Amino acid sequence: MATLITEECINCGACAPRCPNNAIYVGAAQWELEGVSYQALAQDIYYIAPEKCTECVGFFDHEECAAACPVDCCVPDPRIPESETLLIERARRLHPEAPFDGDFPSRFRKS
Ligand code: SF4
Ligand code: SF4
Repeated sequence: MATLITEECINCGACAPRCPNNAIYVGAAQWELEGVSYQALAQDIYYIAPEKCTECVGFFDHEECAAACPVDCCVPDPRIPESETLLIERARRLHPEAPFDGDFPSRFRKS
């Protein structure tokens, strides 16, 4: 995982459509993976499903939700550091149709 929405969230909704993995949900909404629904991780603010977040690895060289957020409340979660290898493997699982060749965008490679 690694990206987390803090309680500073003002529920503007700007982040959710920007996520390439559909990992961001409005508060109280169940999150879904491979046809299975899971309990909401937050009730009053938007939240990120960790199992679906790749920190945008595979798609962008930065976290898109953080770029979209007007109050800077999409932040790395220090409790769950994850490697680029793990994150691109997650992207491949979530997007089996995508090639993700060796030059995939990644915040780990931002110069
Ligand atoms: S960091 Fe990227 S993949 Fe993770 S929730 Fe934000 S937009 Fe989605
Ligand atoms: S962009 Fe930021 S403030 Fe708006 S819903 Fe997403 S996390 Fe909350």
